Amino acid sequence: MKVAADQERCVGSGQCLLTAPEVFDQRDSDAIVELLDAEPPESEHAAVRHAAAGCPAAAITVHEG
Ligand code: SF4
Repeated sequence: MKVAADQERCVGSGQCLLTAPEVFDQRDSDAIVELLDAEPPESEHAAVRHAAAGCPAAAITVHEG
């Protein structure tokens, strides 16, 4: 799995960080998403898919495989 987080689209809602804190963080200055792990381990996949589906700005993309 490969994950991307588009900082231009992100509105800083923080949902992804709550859902998958091992993979997403937020910048201290403006709460915009920061990707911690672009190729997360299997154990994080479900949470990452959930975060992508729940992002209000559709800023998270997931490529399976
Ligand atoms: S859920 Fe989406 S809009 Fe909210 S912080 Fe994460 S990437 Fe940004």
